[in-house]
Amino acid sequence: MILDGKQIAQTIRAELREQVAALTANGLRAPKLAIVIVGNNPASETYVNNKIKACAEVGIDAVKIAYPAEITEQTLLNEIHRLNNDDSIDGFIVQLPLPEHINETQVLSTIDYRKDVDGLTPENVGRTVQGLPSIISATPRGIRELLARYEIATEGKHVVVIGRSNIVGKPIAMLLMQRPYLSLPGLSAASLGDATVTVCHSKTRDLKAICLTADIIIVAAGCPNLLTVDMVREGVTVIDVGINRIDDPAAPKGYRLVGDVDFANVAPKAAYITPVPGGVGPMTIVSLLQNTLQAYNEHSLPQGHDL
Ligand code: NDP
Repeated sequence: MILDGKQIAQTIRAELREQVAALTANGLRAPKLAIVIVGNNPASETYVNNKIKACAEVGIDAVKIAYPAEITEQTLLNEIHRLNNDDSIDGFIVQLPLPEHINETQVLSTIDYRKDVDGLTPENVGRTVQGLPSIISATPRGIRELLARYEIATEGKHVVVIGRSNIVGKPIAMLLMQRPYLSLPGLSAASLGDATVTVCHSKTRDLKAICLTADIIIVAAGCPNLLTVDMVREGVTVIDVGINRIDDPAAPKGYRLVGDVDFANVAPKAAYITPVPGGVGPMTIVSLLQNTLQAYNEHSLPQGHDL
């Protein structure tokens, strides 16, 4: 069965639209997201524009704050302090990557974790590890939501995560190994967690043997065709996070997007599998909207109001 991230993301967007409409119908202001972008990296511009469009679709106000690539780190840090203290902003993100002269760790550490709707601050990551209320980064949140919406339980399952990045591999591994009673608020379906998780990376020996013991495989490596049919058991669930551009002269743009999985051959053997595009990608964008509403609800909603 195909896990249709596009369809689920549409459903969640409709739910968010209703929730935001209920706020404004009650005379409250709409949630507001700020997106800081430095420089003019075309991919970043596209991501930012897509995020702003997605906000508009559900009624979240979005403001883009653009700086030239040459700004100093201090100017960016000053902007972050300003946004931390601006009560009209519920959450903000700094689009990555940043120019080389700006220290990304320093920038992320300066964001108030309550407004960190990308869930990338050390504070949010640490809180997630400890099972405390936190904002979860968008892709792991989207994967968890997708599993929940298809009622794919993880309790007792062996989950193999390929990739150990801070934005995907580590946080999804952490979330799925949590005790469910430590589950974080704002997500549907309570019982995700309690999995036995193995995290693999480029130095892992015999990836195939490990994958063959997996009930669920989450691949986030950025490596086309990394997961092939001989590496999976019958009935496996496969979540393909990878987004890779490969040349394709027959495609209108001269390239097409593929994931990290040999989809055509693995899909017939899998119980559930995400396509690329249309799987994890749309869930990632909608997670940013959910995180923004979460930040609004937790810190901006006047007392006595509940959704
Ligand atoms: P990173 O490059 O930060 O991390 C990749 C990870 O995969 C590393 O841990 C690396 O190991 C591991 N890896 C790479 N090659 C292999 C291999 N041959 N065997 C085993 N492990 C391997 O990537 P990200 O986590 O940022 O992104 C991963 C992919 O997901 C990319 O294609 C990215 O575009 C996509 N992505 C998609 C999103 C979506 O919304 N769908 C969101 C975010 C990312 P090591 O640590 O040893 O180098």
